[in-house]
Amino acid sequence: MGIERIKSIKDLPPEENVFSGTPACAGCGALLSLRLTLKALGRKIVIVNAAGCFTLLTIYPYTPFANSWLYTAMASAPAGAQGVRDALDILLEKGRLDPEEDLKVVVLTGDGAAYDIGLASTSGAIYRNLDFYYLCYDNEAYGNTGFQRSGATPFGSGTGTTPPGSVRPTGTELPKKDLFEIWRSHKPPYLATISPAYPVDLINKFKKAEQYKGPKLFIALSPCPPGWATDPSYTVKLAKLAVGTGVWALKEAVYGEVSHTIVPKKFKPVEEYLKEQGRFAHLFKPVRQEETLKKMQEMVDDYWKRHQLLL
Ligand code: SF4
Repeated sequence: MGIERIKSIKDLPPEENVFSGTPACAGCGALLSLRLTLKALGRKIVIVNAAGCFTLLTIYPYTPFANSWLYTAMASAPAGAQGVRDALDILLEKGRLDPEEDLKVVVLTGDGAAYDIGLASTSGAIYRNLDFYYLCYDNEAYGNTGFQRSGATPFGSGTGTTPPGSVRPTGTELPKKDLFEIWRSHKPPYLATISPAYPVDLINKFKKAEQYKGPKLFIALSPCPPGWATDPSYTVKLAKLAVGTGVWALKEAVYGEVSHTIVPKKFKPVEEYLKEQGRFAHLFKPVRQEETLKKMQEMVDDYWKRHQLLL
């Protein structure tokens, strides 16, 4: 099946499916990721929203969405998606829904549900080969409850539950879980990492995913001004720096086969990304944590060396 890829930002779908007036924070990278995603997916969708920051988007009777929305607890969005998909399939089978009017089922979740609380139910849904899209807006912590550490929090980040101090000078000591690889081990048809700073790459990945029936994952690294302690106007710059320093690898996997879609010609030092954010400020002041910074650069370099893209 041929895929019509877009080439430039001028080709972005003009349609808006998430409207203004949401209570998300100014400069929310997750909201930008969602806005672009819904440009790609269109209006014929049902969003199954796990509890998280985007719980606040839709409060009855107000909604910023042009489509339907079902709210679930953190752990049960994939189960909710199964129910919606089953209901649609029954209606199709009985001839009560025209195939042209069929809806895509989209789980929308933050990293707390995706990496931690909802992982078991997600694994079950992938295992059952549920035909759904799964968008994780990854701001690397539990954002709407005070930025506590999640399984997506990177090594060295300060959070509400891992504040840097004399006992734990680095902040978070555990590395970020690799959700992409956890999903890949289930061998679903399509996986991708995306960024709100690379809309063309994002849209083309959704276009490509459309041809596959089954579970389709998208993880969007989403800068979060209050949690990352950054200026809201820096969101896109930071998302770009995450890619430019190699911290966030833009890639996809079709039936497990990984390819990188954007590789920086010359990687910037990881420090350029870290020093822009208050959550990493303790690595620079009052004393520069040389060993920790070196380790963080090595972790990024190791990834790219493993994929033979940094020699
Ligand atoms: S806390 Fe962060 S992720 Fe949540 S709405 Fe605010 S900016 Fe967005």
